Amino acid sequence: MTNTYLETLYPSWGQQFVMDEVLFEVNTGHQHLVIFNNAQWGTVMALDGVIQTTEKDEFIYHEMMVHVPMMAHGNAKKVLIIGGGDGGILREVLKHDTVESVTQVEIDQQVIDMCIKYLPNHSAGAYDNPKANIVIADGVDFVNECTEKFDVIISDSTDPMGPGEVLFTSRFYQGIKNCLNDDGVFVAQNGVSFMQTDEVTTTYKRLSPLFKQASFYSGAVPTYVGGIMTFAWATDNLDLIETPDEVIKQRFKASGIKTRFYTPEVHKGSFALPQYVLDCLK
Ligand code: SAM
Repeated sequence: MTNTYLETLYPSWGQQFVMDEVLFEVNTGHQHLVIFNNAQWGTVMALDGVIQTTEKDEFIYHEMMVHVPMMAHGNAKKVLIIGGGDGGILREVLKHDTVESVTQVEIDQQVIDMCIKYLPNHSAGAYDNPKANIVIADGVDFVNECTEKFDVIISDSTDPMGPGEVLFTSRFYQGIKNCLNDDGVFVAQNGVSFMQTDEVTTTYKRLSPLFKQASFYSGAVPTYVGGIMTFAWATDNLDLIETPDEVIKQRFKASGIKTRFYTPEVHKGSFALPQYVLDCLK
């Protein structure tokens, strides 16, 4: 009998994985966590029936969520990550020499612990980096109580259900506004736009009253099924999205960061949105 994992994000359609070996499974008190091996994708982690990350394609999502805002900003010293328990975002942020400190606010310690154990290449030692400050808390509370300000804030959350639901609310975005520097930028995973189009509209409507610029960029992540993954972008610094290509190229070259997906050309192209997404921004 083949052991399979059926993603349940969509009621009438979804991807299925053969689970060659279940490495860990638990109800953490916040969410159902399972980690398993699959011949195609390597080690896979899912939360509450939704694929979160796989060994084989994680680099695409983590590079796009980190290097687009970081290269656009160019001099981010203080970074805040909401969620991100697998450590991939933290790993990529710490590759930027400008970073003096990165705070990660993750609600579920077990996600961190189990990903260090079963997906060690995601964090790749980032959790032991002296620049990393890990806070176990609900992200919505943290940003509304925080008195610090950050240059780049990255919300690497689950989907808007269960513990992740609050990370798509106006209260959360107001908290982001409170702790983002005036020239800073906030980015967030905002779903697969063809399948979760309403999430684009909702996020746009909730961010627009708070920031001079609310928009999206995208990237194609194979195991986030249904088309391009859309990333929310919010800032009061209108220059960031217009950062000249040559500047992005110089920053990328100077950073010395080796990537497998992100390039300055991909950076620029990621802001070109299909018409059905543009139609959500009205
Ligand atoms: N979509 C991303 C991906 O697939 O790469 C998400 C990955 S990461 C595993 C999502 C993280 O958000 C999880 O570690 C989860 O525990 C965390 N999370 C969910 N709700 C949260 C909240 N309210 N505050 C902080 N962290 C939260």
